[in-house]
Order: sequence, then structure tokens, then C-alpha cells
Amino acid sequence: MISSIYGIKGVYKTKVKASYCDNCNSSYEWYELIPIVSYFILRGKCSHCNQKLSPLLPLLEIVSGILFAISYIIYGFSYEMIIMIILTIMLVNIFVSDFKYFIIFDKPLIIFSFLVLILKFIFFGFQTFLISVCSGILIFLLMMIIKYIGDSVFKDESLGGGDVKLAMFFGLLLGLRLSIVSLVLGSFLAFPYAIYSVLTGKEKEIPFGPFLISGLYIVFIFMDVVNNFISIIF
Ligand SMILES: [Zn+2]
Repeated sequence: MISSIYGIKGVYKTKVKASYCDNCNSSYEWYELIPIVSYFILRGKCSHCNQKLSPLLPLLEIVSGILFAISYIIYGFSYEMIIMIILTIMLVNIFVSDFKYFIIFDKPLIIFSFLVLILKFIFFGFQTFLISVCSGILIFLLMMIIKYIGDSVFKDESLGGGDVKLAMFFGLLLGLRLSIVSLVLGSFLAFPYAIYSVLTGKEKEIPFGPFLISGLYIVFIFMDVVNNFISIIF
């Protein structure tokens, strides 16, 4: 089901179903892989061994479907619409993987990074493509420095490797200024959760990925407003 698009496999196997049942290993038929519909056709269970499927799946499929539709309504068929679809898939993917397992998978991140670069080249030409590559590298280096300082100050992992790689994707997509705005916004969004985690002592590790990608999502949608704001300040 949707997990195959989101690259949800491996550690997910026991939690969220991929396009095969990890209880009995049987693969699903095509009609068992239709988003939302299939969950109800299968009555929320594997047709082979009756293992329960995660109700998270149809929910994520519905949310993604709504966000895809909104992207099309707002942008029509355009570069922005394709990027919004990519960001929506990443948003759902990272929300599930980072909140549940404290992991941001490399594979979708690499695939989407290449996809964004190809789109930049097709829609805006070689110069924009080159600027994107440089921005990605610069943001990556900047985050590595922050991580290095953070790690030595806190004597512990301050930023996950996944967060650094995610930030590089921000650089590729939005360039330097907007990706820094996204990262700052993401950190602000994470702040209440971090405080809550510290106060309740519930979690030692705070998943930054979902907040960072939410920041990116918001900045991308309101890019004009953010750009105006930046030009007023600087
Ligand atoms: Zn099964």
C-alpha cells in the first residue's frame, strides 16, 4: 500500500505494512493495493493470515490525497505542484518514521534530492541547477558545524545525521536564505514539544525531522510572504 511509495520498509515491517504482509510474507494482489479502498476491501486485515493492518495507513492515504488535491487546486500543473507532492510524501514519511522510530530514511531523501535537481534543471536551466547544488552543500556544511559544536557542548548527539541530510535537501530546494528561515521556523515549531519532553522526562531524544519538514512546507507555501519579509528586514 502507501508504504511502498513512502519507502516504509525495513524497520517498519512489524509496524506499518508494506506491499506485502510481513506476518505471512504473501504479497498483495493489485486490487489489494488501491489507496484507501483496499483497506476496506480487506476489512483492515491480511487476506491470507488475517493479521490486522495498521489503521494509520488509510488515514495517511486520506491526508495525502487531500494535500495532493489542494496542491493541484492552488498551483495547477506546474513546478510548484510537483514540489508540493514531493513535500507531502516527505512530510508523511518523516512524521511516521521520525516520531515512531527516530529515523529519517536515506533512500527517499536521496531520490527526492535528485528529483528536485532534475526539476530545477528542466524548469529553470543549468545556472539555477548549479546554484541549488552549491546551496545544498553550504547548508550541509553549516549544519555539520552546528552539529559539531552542539555535540561537543552537550557531550551527546545534538543533531541527528538524518536532520543534517534533510537540511541539505532544504538547501537544494530553496537556496540559502529560505532554507535558513525554514530551519529556524522548524526549530521554533519543535520548541513546545522539546519543553514538554524535558518536563515530562518522557523522551530523551527529540525527533526534529517532522518539525523541520513542517517548517519547509510552510515556507514553501508562503514563499512570497517570506521573501517580502526578508527584503524588508535586510
Ligand atoms: Zn498475512
